[in-house]
Amino acid sequence: MIIVMKKNATKAQIENVIDWVESVGYKTHPSRGIERTIIGAVGDNRGKENLKFAESLSGVEKTMPILKPYKLASREAKEGNTVIRVGNLEIGGSRFIVMAGPCSIESAEQMMESAFIVKKGGADIIRGGAFKPRTSPYSFQGMEEEGLKLLRRAGDQAGMPVITEVLNPSDVDLIEEYTDILQIGARNIQNFALLKRVGKAKKPVLLKRGMMTTIEELLMSAEYILSSGNDDVILCERGIRTFETATRNTLDLSAVPVLKELSHLPVIVDPSHAAGNWKYILPLTRGALAVGADGVIVEVHPEPEKAVSDGFQSLKPERFYVLMEEIRNLEKFMRNETKVPA
Ligand code: PEP
Ligand code: MN
Repeated sequence: MIIVMKKNATKAQIENVIDWVESVGYKTHPSRGIERTIIGAVGDNRGKENLKFAESLSGVEKTMPILKPYKLASREAKEGNTVIRVGNLEIGGSRFIVMAGPCSIESAEQMMESAFIVKKGGADIIRGGAFKPRTSPYSFQGMEEEGLKLLRRAGDQAGMPVITEVLNPSDVDLIEEYTDILQIGARNIQNFALLKRVGKAKKPVLLKRGMMTTIEELLMSAEYILSSGNDDVILCERGIRTFETATRNTLDLSAVPVLKELSHLPVIVDPSHAAGNWKYILPLTRGALAVGADGVIVEVHPEPEKAVSDGFQSLKPERFYVLMEEIRNLEKFMRNETKVPA
């Protein structure tokens, strides 16, 4: 249920409504918009009719049931879009955010060089995996804490935020010390213990769609994080499994406008894991921008042929610079700052 406050509702009236909703056994998720405050009341469906009595409290305009199963992630729960602040950046704001870096953190030199390339290209956030979810137990599993230190150092030297993946609820505390954004990978989309744990974290979470999850299931997983107390969730389309074998996965670009319609959360695209081939990263990134995504996360490596994971889909420095130039030009064009894309 959502409780819509009147435009001129006072702080005391809002607090009074929050106290009342909590006193009848519901959790409150207030969202303070420019026009008005909306209070999401979530909890047991069985008693939700009682929440209608909120309409008799002062400052309340109306109550409305949220029909979607994902309550807090749904557009109805909030006025406008969620904009997530990371340092000086806004994810879900007007800038198309580019997160870039190697699949795995491999060594101090590789991480430093990657950060240099990513910064030189004009990206916004550095990525790098220290805990790797690998299909084979014999594949490289990541540098763990040593890798986290290298990633943090690279981010600090470049003056850029960093993102890295967490696989296990018991690693969240450690990883939070080093990273600015926590990534939940495709394979953990329905690891509910992990979702609830990052819901208690203080850092934003980038939640990747699983290779076999529907859009509704993705939003339900986001709901786990939101309902555990973390409002800062970024959704990520990274390709799904279909009958097609020409690409590693099938990038579902239609998920972007659909998610934008259903949810207020920022949406980014990962063309690297979707395509599995460096050749398609530029056209798919153009597509992501054109279709309304808030950004991309792409794999870049100083020497892709030597990468310990996902080398074939990683961009070499020169190709990354070309991508960045094109994307920034296309971004200007789309904002109508130029007439023709360069
Ligand atoms: C990754 O980002 O390197 C990764 C493992 O991605 P995904 O979870 O999308 O497969
Ligand atoms: Mn990867």
